[in-house]
Amino acid sequence: MRVKEFGETDLLVTFFTPTHGQLKGVAKAARKSRKRFVNCLDRFSLVSLEYAFKKEGSPSFLHCGKLLDGHEELRCDFGLLSAASYMIELTETLFPSGVSEPRVFDLLKDSLASLTSAKTADAVLIAFEARAMTFGGYRVNLEKCSKCRRPYKGEGMAVFKPERGGIACLRCGQPSHLHPSMTPEAVEVLGKIQEGSFSLSDIDRLKDETLNLLKKALKLHREYRLEQRLKTSKYLE
Ligand SMILES: [Zn+2]
Repeated sequence: MRVKEFGETDLLVTFFTPTHGQLKGVAKAARKSRKRFVNCLDRFSLVSLEYAFKKEGSPSFLHCGKLLDGHEELRCDFGLLSAASYMIELTETLFPSGVSEPRVFDLLKDSLASLTSAKTADAVLIAFEARAMTFGGYRVNLEKCSKCRRPYKGEGMAVFKPERGGIACLRCGQPSHLHPSMTPEAVEVLGKIQEGSFSLSDIDRLKDETLNLLKKALKLHREYRLEQRLKTSKYLE
């Protein structure tokens, strides 16, 4: 996720694991000799790492690593680099050290691997963000109007209400800049992403309109729930 120079010759590496979530580790003398970590401490890399735990809160020691997938393509294209950096930052924000959520590792791994072209980057990001927010406890409520409680049956327009973390019917809310409208397809797709039944291979079939509405709604949702703009999100706009 992140690599920083540490002391004279060491590197401090922030990495994400399937079992323990986010961890920090010191790669001793990694700046003098790269032998134990050949090409595997670059951002976004999928790596098999050998490390030892130290006591809670302090960095572990990294012994050695083996590169599984360097995702070179993510470092050669500004759009893909921004998207990947954003995924890392959102993961760090939603799942800081000490918060372990095994499904997030796979989500991050699969999403980084799916970032192959600028054309699909938007859709991959939307799917990643909605799923990560769900795992983080910020699922958007799509079943009923968040005000009058009338069930939403998948017909007609609704609006997204960030302050309620859900949708509202048109009797209870009007579309505006802060309350973007949601088409039935946008609601359906978001629901599928949240419950994990959306396949990234269906992305090509989505209308641009759906992607744009979801992008708007998720941006407002994230800003409202996380009460901050993530630093890298500005590069995506
Ligand atoms: Zn209503």
